[in-house]
Amino acid sequence: MTGQLVVISGPSGVGKSTICGEILKRLVGSYLSISTTSREKKAGEQEGREYNFVSKDEFKRQIAADNFLEYAEVFGNFYGTPRDKTLSALEQGKIVILEIDVQGAKQIKEQYPDAKLIFILPPKHTELQRRINDRGREEEREIEKRLAGAGIEIAAAWRHYKYMVINDDLEQAVNEIIDIIRR
Ligand code: 5GP
Repeated sequence: MTGQLVVISGPSGVGKSTICGEILKRLVGSYLSISTTSREKKAGEQEGREYNFVSKDEFKRQIAADNFLEYAEVFGNFYGTPRDKTLSALEQGKIVILEIDVQGAKQIKEQYPDAKLIFILPPKHTELQRRINDRGREEEREIEKRLAGAGIEIAAAWRHYKYMVINDDLEQAVNEIIDIIRR
């Protein structure tokens, strides 16, 4: 393995996707892994861009076939990192970015102790609620689940992540993360 593995996690609504998009644009040789998920595709999402969308049965078949480098159940749906594509990007020397949750990050850390684990925090708790509401993607019950999950995830992050970055100002957060990756 010649590339570098970077895990980026954070609660729902913290701005992970925007940050990862900026890193991809600015960091030469970076590659963002597209996860497979059993969750429903939402409005504005495209097959193969945000995720590879599959049924629960298909996801389970892929677990049995050992297709995932890591996988987890998050908010009642399965999400996993495709093994082959990720390893081949690493073999090509890429900086491979995994936008995954804390359970997935732990699995990656066990297999790849050199992986850099970065957790993104909101400047304040109310900010998450505002951002999740603003993007208008989830129904009320789904929003409640995501806000409740945020507290648990942030608590776990203090134990498992070496780097914590606050996303108050996007530009500053992206620069900080690029610095961490280059270090
Ligand atoms: P969403 O449904 O909002 O797109 O994602 C929900 C959560 O699943 C987020 O915390 C996201 O980081 C996580 N997630 C997305 N892809 C993966 C994956 O491949 N593996 C794991 N473990 N978590 C993922």
